[in-house]
Amino acid sequence: MDCMATLDSDFLLKGLNDAQSEAVSAPLQNMLIVAGAGTGKTRVLVSRVSWLLKVENIPARNILTVTFTNKAAAEMRQRIGELVGEDVLHALWSCTFHSLCLRLLRAYSSRAGLSPDFSILDTEGQKLLIKRIEKDLGIDVKEYKPSQLASAISTLKEKGLRAEDFLKKKNSRSELQNVLGRVYPIYEESCKQEDLVDFSELLLKTLEMLRVHDELRDLLQRRFKEILVDEFQDTNVMQYELLKLLSGKETHVLAVGDDDQSIYGWRGADFANMQRFGKEFSQVKTIALQKNYRSSQNILDIANVLISANDNRLIQKELHGVHGQGYRVEFLHNSSGYFEAVNIGNMIASMIKRGVRARDIAVLYRNNSLSAAIESELSNRGIPYAVYGGLKFFDRAEIQDALAYLRILLNDADDTALLRIINVPSRKLGPKVVENLRRIAQDRKCSAMQAIALVCEYGSQKGAPKELASLAKKLVAFGDLIKKLKSLKEHSSSLSELVKGVIEESGLYEYYRLKDEKEQRGEYDNQRHLNLEQLVNNAVSFEAENDGQSTEDDFEPTENANNSKDSLLNFISSVSLAAGTELSESGLQESVPDTVNLMTIHSSKGLEFRYVFIVGFDKGVLPSSISESRGDISEERRLAYVGITRAVEQLCLSYSDQRLFFGKMEVTGPSQFLQEVAGHYAGSSGKPFEVMRA
Ligand code: ATP
Ligand code: MG
Repeated sequence: MDCMATLDSDFLLKGLNDAQSEAVSAPLQNMLIVAGAGTGKTRVLVSRVSWLLKVENIPARNILTVTFTNKAAAEMRQRIGELVGEDVLHALWSCTFHSLCLRLLRAYSSRAGLSPDFSILDTEGQKLLIKRIEKDLGIDVKEYKPSQLASAISTLKEKGLRAEDFLKKKNSRSELQNVLGRVYPIYEESCKQEDLVDFSELLLKTLEMLRVHDELRDLLQRRFKEILVDEFQDTNVMQYELLKLLSGKETHVLAVGDDDQSIYGWRGADFANMQRFGKEFSQVKTIALQKNYRSSQNILDIANVLISANDNRLIQKELHGVHGQGYRVEFLHNSSGYFEAVNIGNMIASMIKRGVRARDIAVLYRNNSLSAAIESELSNRGIPYAVYGGLKFFDRAEIQDALAYLRILLNDADDTALLRIINVPSRKLGPKVVENLRRIAQDRKCSAMQAIALVCEYGSQKGAPKELASLAKKLVAFGDLIKKLKSLKEHSSSLSELVKGVIEESGLYEYYRLKDEKEQRGEYDNQRHLNLEQLVNNAVSFEAENDGQSTEDDFEPTENANNSKDSLLNFISSVSLAAGTELSESGLQESVPDTVNLMTIHSSKGLEFRYVFIVGFDKGVLPSSISESRGDISEERRLAYVGITRAVEQLCLSYSDQRLFFGKMEVTGPSQFLQEVAGHYAGSSGKPFEVMRA
């Protein structure tokens, strides 16, 4: 090691404990870190990347990190940048599984059988497309909800089953499966025709591409010399296979995870992948981290008691903290969901009054529906808050509308986007017009956009049939608008200018501004026209972040070198990925720094907050009644464990005697989990809850 490297290595190991240092400075090899919450797994991963760069002198382009959310990926980049300097970041691939697949498919689209500028179909778009197909097939959309079919299709794809495979299975079918058998093939075909790729398709296509193109797989295996994966317990079978396909003889993988925090089993994640990794990758060194650096011992004791009741753990671990016993955990008893919100509102208000920063407070819940009461309580008190997950920024109708306008500027064939906005704002192009247009498109085997051009051209000629002429009359203005927007795209000097122009020229901004005004949406009501403004801000940040980045990547000659320069395409891809993946957060909230954080426990994974409230710690809510009726509450237990271990200083577990479900008041009471951990407190003394308590 030369002198500089010694300096770097001392710097990178500073403050780490022995086990952490061992992992960070280990020789190049496969490694598995299995350790409990808050033991510094993510910190080790970040330091290891820095070590590889600075001490092992591995070029950034040979390193790939994979994390679970876009936010985590961005944070990782930032933390690595702080340790080793920003200049290496442009060549480092710091991705989520989704964004990794997107990058690979864009670079090698023809091998994947895609056009170079395919669009991503996010969850909202997926539902719209399925609704359209159901209508064409005469299927009742109320009985077979598009969202239900969408998730059924995703589940099939996540198992690697295409429509053809599904139809081949000759098992007896439920009604829903029969419907699925009719919808899925058309869905697949429409996606192909409209050049759309949905989320599960990203992964499936990438796998299919890498399985058959040996030379591409070799190329990538030679490129990715070091792969580091955080939250490994939540990888599914296909993600695991992707990792295997990407790692060649000379690749080393570091997998970091905690089986006790596996909370995506319902979506096919399997923490047994950690065991599999240990067996299937060569000479894996396993390292355990023991100390928890996050929480006080009272919080950890509760987490330990709760998780110890699971009998399907890979490793029995106990969390031991370094910060002393700390405050006792508070159990907050409320008479109803409404009073729960009032009580917590009171506590938060008085904490803020005493100088606690709003951003240090988090309110976590099992289901999104539990946030409404808390939201309205906080907004009545004028306490700023941000909801993560839930209806995310990019899933909001107004943002989806804006994105649909942008998408049709990129892809003429994107009927799903076109039909979404053809009558938003209202242009008197109702269902009848749309129906006619689609019929023409089907007859002519062309896209809806081409059909509009045809109708406008022939319908405005003298002697055109009456019906066609009247259709043309209705569509001419819309056709002109699209032309105008296209010319805007040609002449805009920047991405943000284009986004702003499209939002304004399309009439979308004014439409939502008037709507907000009419509905008297208040300051905290998430005004829709302001969300549109925020989208422009996002475009500005996107420009700044990507300035010169993507083009400098010296990836081996890709098929589509020029396309990576198309900033609109990249922008839309990146926001489409941020939408719908449930785990991602909006750009909006990040720009409002001092707000109370509201999110599901699922979205809180990997994060930490000084003060944590978990609401709805009720019977039938956590564990959920569905899991109870299934007779397996182990994943719910892990979920509660994840929630509890987010807290640094103080934790409040709140439950209620009764709660409204679908407008009906039902008796609930404390969760069995609460009863299990409460016993732990009998007779214990400790500081009472003076900080949280009013
Ligand atoms: P989770 O399982 O929730 O993802 P984790 O194991 O990834 O947790 P980190 O988020 O890396 O844990 O670390 C938890 C906290 O402990 C962070 O605030 C981190 O900065 C701090 N920490 C980790 N290691 C040390 C250390 N050696 N000394 C002091 N603080 C540490
Ligand atoms: Mg972590």
